Amino acid sequence: MKKLLTLLASMILVLTLGALARVDGFDRGLISVTFDDGWTSQHQNALPILERYGIPATMYIISGAINDQPEYMTQEQIQDFAGRGDEIASHTVTHPHLRELSPGQLNSELTESQATLRQMFGPSAATSFASPYAEYNDATLAAIRQVYSNHRAYDDDGTDSSGINTRTSYNAYNLKVKFVESTTTTATVQGWIETAKAANAWLILSYHEVGANIGGGAYTTDTAVLDADMKAVRDSGLQVVTVAQGAAEVLSQTAGR
Ligand SMILES: [Zn+2]
Repeated sequence: MKKLLTLLASMILVLTLGALARVDGFDRGLISVTFDDGWTSQHQNALPILERYGIPATMYIISGAINDQPEYMTQEQIQDFAGRGDEIASHTVTHPHLRELSPGQLNSELTESQATLRQMFGPSAATSFASPYAEYNDATLAAIRQVYSNHRAYDDDGTDSSGINTRTSYNAYNLKVKFVESTTTTATVQGWIETAKAANAWLILSYHEVGANIGGGAYTTDTAVLDADMKAVRDSGLQVVTVAQGAAEVLSQTAGR
């Protein structure tokens, strides 16, 4: 009997320690790959790579820039993403600084973008939203809550563990994100992946233009680097989800926060 009690006590101890180690984590680790603004270079250079590694993406589209060639994708090009199950998400109509708008202007940037995207890509489009320039405040967030199910924010202070969503810190309207810049190496992305894996966390990556000869700005990712990044994502062991899928999965684990 004493032996049995000792065994029972040690089993409880092991289970408790295991739970504590993952107390901040979700049921499983997640990763999302997102692209902003709807650049044509994403269709030319990112889509074949996403196909190669079987990775679903979330595309944050500026609805007013659709068909604004040659910089921005046509509706048909965006449909190539939607047709493979990628999420078409909203990034406003005109990419303004949301905090500087009147309440009326803010409301139309949010609702008209959603209406256009749903008319073009169906009723499941535009449930997710990202603020242009990652700029927001309490007033813009309150308006976003009225229209969208989640909001990709900006919460990366540059440390390894910042910019990654954990269970205890989770807020659907403050989704943390890691911005991939032109200087971000695959080794850096791999480090973020390891951090997310260790914590059963949700890592959201944000890309902009893709390709060596296009843009050339701080947020342009070289095609070969994106290829290596996506191979790392596929091999990460994290479940690859769109942002809407990730938000739906963790909802019951976070009491609807
Ligand atoms: Zn943007």
